[in-house]
Amino acid sequence: MKEWKKNIRKVVPYVPGEQPKQQDIIKLNTNENPYPPSPSVYEAMKRIDPGRMRLYPDPSCRMLVNGLASYHGLDAGQIFVGVGSDDVLAMAFMTFFNSEKPILFPDITYSFYQVWADLLKIPFKTPALDEDFQIRAEDYYRENGGVIFPNPNAPTGIARPLDFIRDILDHNQDVIVVVDEAYIDFGGETALPLLKEYENLLVVRTYSKSRSMAGMRIGYAMGNPELIQALNDVKYSYNSYTMDQTALELGTAALLDENYFQSVLRKIIATRQEAAERLTQMGFRWLDSSANFIFAAHPSCDGGKLFQYLRDHGVYVRYFNSPRIDQYLRITIGTDEEMKRLYQVLESALYGNI
Ligand SMILES: *Cc1c(COP(=O)(O)O)cnc(C)c1O
Repeated sequence: MKEWKKNIRKVVPYVPGEQPKQQDIIKLNTNENPYPPSPSVYEAMKRIDPGRMRLYPDPSCRMLVNGLASYHGLDAGQIFVGVGSDDVLAMAFMTFFNSEKPILFPDITYSFYQVWADLLKIPFKTPALDEDFQIRAEDYYRENGGVIFPNPNAPTGIARPLDFIRDILDHNQDVIVVVDEAYIDFGGETALPLLKEYENLLVVRTYSKSRSMAGMRIGYAMGNPELIQALNDVKYSYNSYTMDQTALELGTAALLDENYFQSVLRKIIATRQEAAERLTQMGFRWLDSSANFIFAAHPSCDGGKLFQYLRDHGVYVRYFNSPRIDQYLRITIGTDEEMKRLYQVLESALYGNI
C-alpha cells in the first residue's frame, strides 16, 4: 500500500435515494413533496437580485431566524438554521454528543445517524424497535451520551405521543435529547411545547418534505438559547456562511402563506388515507403512518422483487435490504395521478406478473 493512503479517512457514506435522470418516471422514493412550494416563494423569487451575490450572506441568518421565531412563537435566540436538517443534525452531533458513553438511537431509523456517529467517532448503541416497530421508552432509561430519534420515525412512519417524549426526557435529564421532526407536519404531536420544561431538548425541522423545498436545502433547530448558542459557535468554527442569500430569502417567504401550506398538508394526508385503503384491498400490510409515506409489505410477494418490478415499470420507491424490513417498501405519497400509476403497476405485479 502506498504510504500516503494510510492517512486517508475511510468512511461508509450515507446512501440517499436515487435521483433518476429520466423525465417520465414516477418518483416516490425520497419523500419529496409532489406539490410546488407556496406562491409566496414564487413571488420572492422574482425579487432576488443577482447583483447581491457579490456580497457574503448574513452569517447570522437573521431574516430567516426572525421569520421562524415569529412563526413558532419563540425568541430568535431559540432558533438555529442550516443547509437542510442534515446540516443541522450533523452540527448537533458535533456540538452535543461528546461523551465517552454511547449515544442512543433506534436500530431501524434514519440511517444518517449511524453515518454521522461513525464519521465523528461517537460511540453509539441502537436499541431494537419492538415487534410492532415502535420505539420502546424503557430502552432509553440506561446511561448514555445523548439520545436522538425522529418523531414520526422513518422509515416506519410511526409517531409516538407527547407523553412518550416526556417519558424519555424525564429519564434523560443529563444529556441532550434531539427529536427529529422531519415529518411532524403530516401527523403526530410536536415536542415544541416541552421546550418550556426541558432545557436539554432540541427539536429539528426541515423545509424538504412538508414545505416542498428539498432543493433549496433549509433546516432548523429549536431549543433553549444556550444550546442554540453552542450550535452557532460550532457552525462559526466550521463555516460561517452555511446558508446562501437565496435560501434565506425564500425560506422566510415560505412562511407567509399558511393557508396554502395547510391545504397541501391536508391533500397529502387524504391521499395517504386513500393509499392505505388501496394497499389493504391489494392484501398489503402497512404500518400506521403519520408521515408523507407508507411503509408496506405484501405477504405473498417478495419485497425486493416487487421493488425491482416497480422500478422496471418506471415507479421508484425506496427499498432497504436490511434485517426485519427487507419485505417492506417505503412509498412516498405522490399526486393522485402518480398514485394511480403506482396502484396499476402493483396490481399487475400481484396478479401474476412477478
Ligand atoms: C429527510 C430527512 C432528513 C433530512 O432532510 P433535509 O433534506 O436534510 O432537511 C432528516 N431526518 C429525517 C428523519 C428525514 O427523513
